[in-house]
Amino acid sequence: MFSHAIERFKQRNHYPGFAPRAVLFDMDGVLFDSMRGHATAWVKAMREMDLPFTELDAYMNEGQTGHATINNVFLKKYGRDATEEEKQRVYQLKSDYFDDCGTPAPMPYAFELLQKLKARGLQRVVVTGSGQPSLLNRLEHSFPGMFTKDKMVTAFDVQYGKPHPEPYLMGLKKTGLQPWEVVAVDNAPLGVESASAARLFTIGLNTGPLPPQVLVDAGANIILGGMKELYDRWDEIVEVKV
Ligand code: MG
Repeated sequence: MFSHAIERFKQRNHYPGFAPRAVLFDMDGVLFDSMRGHATAWVKAMREMDLPFTELDAYMNEGQTGHATINNVFLKKYGRDATEEEKQRVYQLKSDYFDDCGTPAPMPYAFELLQKLKARGLQRVVVTGSGQPSLLNRLEHSFPGMFTKDKMVTAFDVQYGKPHPEPYLMGLKKTGLQPWEVVAVDNAPLGVESASAARLFTIGLNTGPLPPQVLVDAGANIILGGMKELYDRWDEIVEVKV
């Protein structure tokens, strides 16, 4: 089933092959079941600032930096950019509301998949638009031994952020591999767009309320329903001979 998608990907990008040796993971909605908390927190924070924003908006804006999301809302409502102070104020509110949701649970089967990849010698990299300072600790707590600081791209590292290809290109660079040797896994339209623009094989993991077509339109090479399906079907992806 995946062979056509892989063949199309290879031909479109003029790659000599497809042989995954690293997986670049988005964090929220992929490694952690955290998107409901983020969506709720965004809606509360925006409402407090009298800014129009729905939970669905949170899913559609997911992946870019928080400041970019806030700026888009200011452009829509006031026809101007948000000031630094406004961006910081809304983002702080949002972060506080998110903290109220408690620690997000790891996505079911995320750890099992990471262990499988590690056992087979594949690198694991995190590519997230999140700017939480304690991110590595949280990853280490939930997925011990699976990630290292030098294999992470966060909001602090990037200039543009998703949907620009920059974060996934930085992630690729950290692997030291060729683009046909890595796979990107992202659940958000803007994240999929970023990975696809970086010319990486992109798995759209549809873990939220958006119709799967949104991820197809964003450029996903294949769409899966969640981490369990990726875990179960990983061998089908790597065993395709191209
Ligand atoms: Mg995500």
